[in-house]
Amino acid sequence: MKIAVLGGDGFCGWPAALHLSARGHDVVVVDNLSRRAIDVQLGTESLTPIRGLDERRAAWQERTGRRIGSAQIDLAEDHEAFLDLLVVERPDAVVHFAEQRAAPYSMRTPATKRYTVDNNVNATHNVLCAVVESGLDVHLVHLGTMGVYGYGTAGMRIPEGYLDVEVHGPQGGVTQQILYPSQPGSLYHMTKVLDQTMFAFYAKNDRLRITDLHQGIVWGTSTAETALDERLVNRFDYDGDYGTVLNRFLVQAAVGHPLTVHGTGGQTRAFIHIQDMVRCVELALLHPPAAGDRVKIFNQMTETHRVRDLARLVAGLTGAEVELVPNPRQESAENELHVDNGAFLDLGLRPTTLSEGLLLEVEQTAVRWAHRVDLARIPARSVWNARRRPGIPARP
Ligand code: NAD
Repeated sequence: MKIAVLGGDGFCGWPAALHLSARGHDVVVVDNLSRRAIDVQLGTESLTPIRGLDERRAAWQERTGRRIGSAQIDLAEDHEAFLDLLVVERPDAVVHFAEQRAAPYSMRTPATKRYTVDNNVNATHNVLCAVVESGLDVHLVHLGTMGVYGYGTAGMRIPEGYLDVEVHGPQGGVTQQILYPSQPGSLYHMTKVLDQTMFAFYAKNDRLRITDLHQGIVWGTSTAETALDERLVNRFDYDGDYGTVLNRFLVQAAVGHPLTVHGTGGQTRAFIHIQDMVRCVELALLHPPAAGDRVKIFNQMTETHRVRDLARLVAGLTGAEVELVPNPRQESAENELHVDNGAFLDLGLRPTTLSEGLLLEVEQTAVRWAHRVDLARIPARSVWNARRRPGIPARP
């Protein structure tokens, strides 16, 4: 297949681009390098020393003989450039990773709130609009999030996107399938909810073939391909905005800092290892919906854990201490999470579990690059509660 990987310079997009290239697909990466610019804005840096996109691509070609193309396009701003790319490259599929993906960053300031909504909603809509305009039969695979479901599921098992509901009409009960009611916990998650509505519209109105992957938190750094050469190393974020919970614990353990658990640590989250993530993306590409089908939704996660249990697991492996700190998010202190993920397992996914892969991750990433850690960047600084701009008086 010819595949355009949007956001292909990022944490998930880069290893996915390499995996697809290694599997014999013809890959072109599209990225505006905004994630690297946000690092500069926040004064943060990947724990791992990531190379520039051109150096990464050249290293891949040198190692494997396989070429990955690239185009620097802002998908939220430049619809024409993306349309031109579609017309020239004529991809069979587009994988869309190109959004601002940190919930804390999306809640940080009015400017980051507006940026996240403008960027994510416009990027997704421009992609959909350009695919229609190109007249090509492209399968669009989007990286969504388990966060669209919300975390208060009242003990039920979350289905893969659609919920059976029985409604009472004049002729009695009717059973229907509806999109699972969304309950975003941040503005970032809200943009993913808006994405879902755009996908449903374009699948129905324009018969676009769309798959939405409701992904859990990705952990791990390396895949078989990124491990081939030091210059292919993947990014690893550990700062208060972009560092996801498990990566933060790994870095804290590596530098002898207590593992900071927000609130009671009773939040249950869904996880997937990065190697499984890249496999799932290819499995989704190989099993597209037909034109006219509704959006195909997979729950792309392999296990769930409570945050405090994760902290205990990492503490047990490393001897780190655990510290409870106030939770900056507005959410329930404790929640259950049961998820149906049968679709990928049925397609042959064999998950890497935390109990197998965690120690390797501690040794090969966190301890190896511990000398690059900036401790000041670890605490979460973004808070969820709205604040007035200084100088604007409170309502009487
Ligand atoms: P990332 O920030 O590392 O990568 C996103 C990439 O998209 C970056 O390289 C960025 O420069 C690019 N980008 C952003 N806006 C763009 C635009 N307007 N035009 C062109 N390029 C743009 O994020 P990630 O962790 O790789 O996440 C990728 C996708 O997967 C996101 O949509 C995210 O919501 C989803 N996801 C990630 C996780 C996770 O744990 N990392 C979990 C669930 C879902």
